Amino acid sequence: MTEIVDLRSDTVTRPSPAMRAAIAAAEVGDDVLGDDPTVNRLQERMAAFLGKEAALFVPSGSMANQVAIRSVCEPGDEIIADETTHSYNFEGGGPAALSGASMRLIEGPRGLFTPAQAEALIRPDNVHYPHTRLIIVENTNNRGGGSVWPVEQVAGLRAVADRHKLHLHMDGARLMNACVARGLKPTDYTRHVDSVSMCFSKGLGAPVGSIVAGPAWFIKRCHRFRKMFGGAMRQAGILAAAALYALDHNVEHLAEDHANARRLAEALAGLPGLRIDPTTVETNIVIFEIDPQRGSAADFAAKLHERGVWMLATGPQKVRVVTHLDVPRAQIERAITVFREICRAA
Ligand SMILES: *Cc1c(COP(=O)(O)O)cnc(C)c1O
Repeated sequence: MTEIVDLRSDTVTRPSPAMRAAIAAAEVGDDVLGDDPTVNRLQERMAAFLGKEAALFVPSGSMANQVAIRSVCEPGDEIIADETTHSYNFEGGGPAALSGASMRLIEGPRGLFTPAQAEALIRPDNVHYPHTRLIIVENTNNRGGGSVWPVEQVAGLRAVADRHKLHLHMDGARLMNACVARGLKPTDYTRHVDSVSMCFSKGLGAPVGSIVAGPAWFIKRCHRFRKMFGGAMRQAGILAAAALYALDHNVEHLAEDHANARRLAEALAGLPGLRIDPTTVETNIVIFEIDPQRGSAADFAAKLHERGVWMLATGPQKVRVVTHLDVPRAQIERAITVFREICRAA
């Protein structure tokens, strides 16, 4: 049987034997009662790591974003974000369902909008309008192909948020990818935002879990809404132990994922029927388009799948590839061979 090269998402990683050992050894308690020592250690470490007063461990990145939104928005409020944003497109309509908030969307290049674009959408104080409450930036931006926010652009949004008394939240599901790609510390970004979320279950390779961090008043509200949304967990230290292990061992590895993504993008750029600009590949996500004369993205992905190379069609002609911890360079080379065979056969 040929080995599967699973490039569907960086969420498909499985805990390594060493991570499983850390999970097995974790000290635990009842976190709903506040006495899981491993969860507490993770939350304290993440608050310091992200430069915030407090942090809260949650089951998923979606819950991190949704408790953050609920903590700052009242029904009828409006959120400004890019049209690609995860919290709008891929969290089941959460902002509307859970917070009663509507979203005003921007078309930023690869998900990266400018401070001026955001400021132009802020509503004047007038009974006719919804109350603009929150701006969300997604770093890296998933649908934008893992694009990285320039720090100055986030700083510019900070100035806008201050002028209009808005909350600025960073969906940093892949914040560490942005930091590794640019040689930055998380606080280089997070000092400009009020709150931030980050996933352990993507490129960092943990099985479950995300963090949300911000000021103490905000995390207190997130804590309340985590309970309300059903995300309070009991002996969650076994999950926090995996997150701590990931922080200690899997951050530097992201640079390899980025090099693998770049290698793949450069190989694909030379193939007939595919469209991709490898210079846009900044982190671990590669998005390319199939020439419509060669069929749909779904057909193309199906042909790759038959040969053991898995990826997701994310649009009629668009395919997304994500590199991660469980795809070594040799598997990338195998994927490239399969791409060549399919593109040249057509
Ligand atoms: C994956 C992801 C999330 C959270 O996803 P979960 O599957 O709920 O953990 C949030 N934001 C972005 C940008 C993501 O890519």
